[in-house]
Amino acid sequence: MINVDICIIGAGSGGLSVAAGAAQMGAKVVLVEQGEMGGDCLNTGCVPSKSMLAAGHMAQNIRQAASFGVQAVEPKTDWAAVHRHIHEVIGSIAPNDSQQRFEDMGVTVIRAAGQFEDRQTLRAGDQLIRAKYFVLATGSSPFVPPFAGLDQVSYFTNENIFDNREEVEHLIVIGGGPIAMEMAQAHLRLGARVTVMKKSRLLIKDDPELSSIVITCLQKEGMEFHEGGHDLTVERTDDGKVAVRHTTDECSQSVIGSHLLIATGRRANVNGLGLEAAGVAYSEKGVGVDARLRTSNKRIFAIGDVAGPYQFTHMAAYQAGIVIRNMLFKLPAKVDYSAVPWVTYTDPELAQVGMTEADAEQVGTDIRVLRWSFDENDRAQAEKRIEGLVKVITTPRGVILGAGIAGLHAGELIQPWVLAISQKMKIGAMASMIAPYPTLAEVNKRIAGSFYTEKLFSQRIQRLVKLLLKF
Ligand SMILES: Cc1cc2nc3c(=O)[nH]c(=O)nc-3n(C[C@H](O)[C@H](O)[C@H](O)COP(=O)(O)OP(=O)(O)OC[C@H]3O[C@@H](n4cnc5c(N)ncnc54)[C@H](O)[C@@H]3O)c2cc1C
Repeated sequence: MINVDICIIGAGSGGLSVAAGAAQMGAKVVLVEQGEMGGDCLNTGCVPSKSMLAAGHMAQNIRQAASFGVQAVEPKTDWAAVHRHIHEVIGSIAPNDSQQRFEDMGVTVIRAAGQFEDRQTLRAGDQLIRAKYFVLATGSSPFVPPFAGLDQVSYFTNENIFDNREEVEHLIVIGGGPIAMEMAQAHLRLGARVTVMKKSRLLIKDDPELSSIVITCLQKEGMEFHEGGHDLTVERTDDGKVAVRHTTDECSQSVIGSHLLIATGRRANVNGLGLEAAGVAYSEKGVGVDARLRTSNKRIFAIGDVAGPYQFTHMAAYQAGIVIRNMLFKLPAKVDYSAVPWVTYTDPELAQVGMTEADAEQVGTDIRVLRWSFDENDRAQAEKRIEGLVKVITTPRGVILGAGIAGLHAGELIQPWVLAISQKMKIGAMASMIAPYPTLAEVNKRIAGSFYTEKLFSQRIQRLVKLLLKF
């Protein structure tokens, strides 16, 4: 029997953050991992997807060079080399998440599946672990609906798409969330034909005014969309391709592609953990937690994708900080989700933090909605990237409630808004900042300034200025 202060199940974004923090603060820590160190983010999520997108963006730059006066060619993709690039990037980050690094910090790493025997004991392989606190950080897996015929075809999910080395001629993507759209664009830019099939609105969690900018750009690049279909069935054709059929209100349609990607959401990893024995309440949606991230067994915390409500690496890391404060310092630290950012890394990117316009309308808050278009930005003009919009929601007195951006580098541009919302800043702070010229980030200052435009250029101010100039 191993007796420790903290036992963490899952060595992904959440589990590793708790392990590193707790061990370096002097706690005795065991980390249990059944698969690869680094979890989804490093191996089958953020890192490979952004690396693949980077390859796609490179191809697109070559394609578009002519409009900058540089000879353009149609780039030829070496799919095996793209695979190599993706795995080189994973390899360059992997040491940060490695068993060796964590053992050097004093963490005991056990490579086995963890399962609770009772409320205080976990079995991992042939080891029994007793801990003062447990942290469930087991993540999530792709949710694959039981489409008729799926057992007859091979298909990609995020778990195997980054293992592909062969040319993708025509990728059919089922799903319309961030993972689906990122993978669709990466393949499109690498030279594949791409068809996206989605039952409801694409990028449904984002402001439709902003997501439509991204979707229009993807369409212009050649992505094909089939929206609103239902009763989806899948079939293998005689020549080894895959046919996806769906029915719309008008007719039944079939798309034939060389490869299929299913990106229809995530399912929390709650099975096989012995949660009943541990007295941890859970559902299909994940493990239930309170604002301190304690489960129904107060000695067991849950963080990251298995707990939700946001399934992002930065959320798992944020939640890790909350449970460390609760476990090690006995502070009743609670989560605050008022300034959670998220980004879809298509090009243009789509970023959001805080309330959208629809959120504000739903809670009935009195709001002002500000808009600023990228075509007013000189740097966007120089880069020929004028498709984009910033949208900011404030109270009538200028307290910032939310911001959304669709445009080049939106994920970078959203950051000052995250700070502003988390610090409850007013829009005047953003308006009075000096922004270097010419940067895309000037859009943030300009939209903030627009809050005052009406007042500043009013007849009352004009009369006041005239009066003052007389002296
Ligand atoms: C394609 C894709 C792209 C993404 N891109 C982004 C992005 O750009 N930005 C972003 O913020 N987020 C992104 N995400 C989401 C991000 O990867 C997750 O939110 C994050 O990895 C969650 O961390 P976690 O610690 O909760 O789970 P994970 O990182 O998945 O780690 C869970 C670990 O627990 C282990 N485990 C499970 N059960 C057991 C058990 N019984 N015993 C022992 N070990 C167990 C698993 O093997 C795994 O290693 C992406 C996800 C995908 C799929």
